[in-house]
Amino acid sequence: MFYLLILILQMKLIRQITDLNKAISNQKELGFVPTMGSLHKGHASLINFSKQKCKKTLVSIFVNPTQFNNVNDFKTYPQNLDKDIKLLKRLKVDFLYLPTVSQIYNNKEHKINRLNKSQKVLCAKFRKGHFEGVLDVMGRFTDIIKPKNIFMGEKDYQQFFLVRNFIQRKYKTKVIACKTIRDVNQVALSSRNSLLDLENLNKVGKISLVLIKLKNLIKKNIQDKKLIKKIKVDLVKKFNIKIEYLECRNLLNLRTNLENKPFKLFVAYYIKGVRLIDNF
Ligand code: AMP
Repeated sequence: MFYLLILILQMKLIRQITDLNKAISNQKELGFVPTMGSLHKGHASLINFSKQKCKKTLVSIFVNPTQFNNVNDFKTYPQNLDKDIKLLKRLKVDFLYLPTVSQIYNNKEHKINRLNKSQKVLCAKFRKGHFEGVLDVMGRFTDIIKPKNIFMGEKDYQQFFLVRNFIQRKYKTKVIACKTIRDVNQVALSSRNSLLDLENLNKVGKISLVLIKLKNLIKKNIQDKKLIKKIKVDLVKKFNIKIEYLECRNLLNLRTNLENKPFKLFVAYYIKGVRLIDNF
């Protein structure tokens, strides 16, 4: 009896779509947390939120090739499956789905969702085809899993924004945003942080502090483009980074017009060849 209970409560590790269908066929209130693995406390917060809101939680680990616009970035993306499985068991996740690329992409042709001109801002401007890949895989996952809710991080706000619009237009599933989890030194947790040494992680912390201060100044003075430009030049010089963008956008439609709308300061930069994004 005791062993049976342990077996029932154990996380189910699923690799085949047929097994997934069997495992979740009766789950009406499934929370889904899509990830690319190398899990940290940011992912854990999404999982905990899903466990609060939904009866069962399914986490996927899938490094989706179609969303990488750079082959080297795909090849060097950090992976740590054994450690991830231990963490997911500790968090008492119900299902872990580990599909192969062919399982996800062999089943059906999906229409590519091209972004329109006004959507090609921030990361969409610098990572050609990235969000088309994200929307494609999220549609495929939603078709297979049919979750009640999908939980995504605000750290990747543009991704959350585009996925929410796409999924909620097409499916009954609701896409829910979760707060960004940061280290004590204000570094946003990210799987890519493991590619940096301590010295550069400290730099990331200092850059975050500058950007938090800048956001607070902007809040008081509406938007000051000259100040943003100056800080951008200073950051590049001081920390030897390459900034792709540093700009404020409103959260309702990601346009630059702020006009009393809630907004965030968005940044993407390369440090030691590692691309980081954040928003404040
Ligand atoms: P990834 O594995 O990087 O694709 O991320 C999977 C999910 O975790 C995405 O919805 C991310 O936005 C979210 N996420 C990543 N880092 C954080 C963080 N520091 N805080 C909250 N959510 C995060």
